[in-house]
Amino acid sequence: MPDIAFANGVFLPLAEATVSVEDRGFQFGDGVYELLRVYGRVPFCPLDHLARLERSARALDIALPFDTARWMSVITEAVHRSDYPEAKVYIQVTRGVAPRDHTYSATLVPTVIITVRALASPVESLYTDGTDVVTVPDLRWGRCDIKSVSLLANVLAKQQARNAGAFEALFVRDGFILEGATSNVMTVHGGSLVTPPEGPLLLSGVTRRLALQLAREAGISLAERPLPEKDLYAASEVFLTGTTIEILPVITINGRCIGGGFPGPITKELMARFRKLHA
Ligand code: PLP
Repeated sequence: MPDIAFANGVFLPLAEATVSVEDRGFQFGDGVYELLRVYGRVPFCPLDHLARLERSARALDIALPFDTARWMSVITEAVHRSDYPEAKVYIQVTRGVAPRDHTYSATLVPTVIITVRALASPVESLYTDGTDVVTVPDLRWGRCDIKSVSLLANVLAKQQARNAGAFEALFVRDGFILEGATSNVMTVHGGSLVTPPEGPLLLSGVTRRLALQLAREAGISLAERPLPEKDLYAASEVFLTGTTIEILPVITINGRCIGGGFPGPITKELMARFRKLHA
């Protein structure tokens, strides 16, 4: 039984899992989610993802129905049942099922869906040769730090990137780069790592935090400061961070070459250190 779902309290093949048409996740995008990665059958940084899930849910006034121990036991069992050595685990929690009405009752029972599927990592050449990204206007709301299932602006941005033959779209708001549609972004200027600071306009990425920690350990100076779009093109290196992509070099932005047009030394150093975290 490889593709697994945990839905409405039971494990079953993913293809058999269903949710009500009156689920508020379907009606309003009223819910939160997490994606965590499994390496060698072991979930990676699960407590960081669960802590963020808790923060996201609290910000939306959704009471998570499980404590950490229960989440861990369900995730572990789902991973075990799927038996994929390399997998991605989605946790989705919506406010629950109710007749359609924007307002909600505090008595709703949240819907919990967990799915486990095999993970197809980006092809290795993206890491050795680097990727292309485009910039797009940020059409999202003002709480991008909440990992909400309402992802319309991200969906449209990512599709815009794909249509342009690029891997990722970077959101620009008021002239500043914030993050990608599915990743955080970091640049290197004069040998220092620069990344936009955490706040309501970007997601506090688990991989972002790890990359910053690895940079500190490697003695690389770093600054979390606003990043004007115009400064991007002057960067010697740019890379993306995210759960499925890990640390992924960027070599062009809107068709303009970054650095020498190949992954730079700081990016490569952090990529190598990151891979050791789960080797
Ligand atoms: N920013 C956005 C908008 C994302 O959707 C994601 C991941 O899905 C990230 C950043 C990276 O976060 P993480 O490293 O926790 O996967």
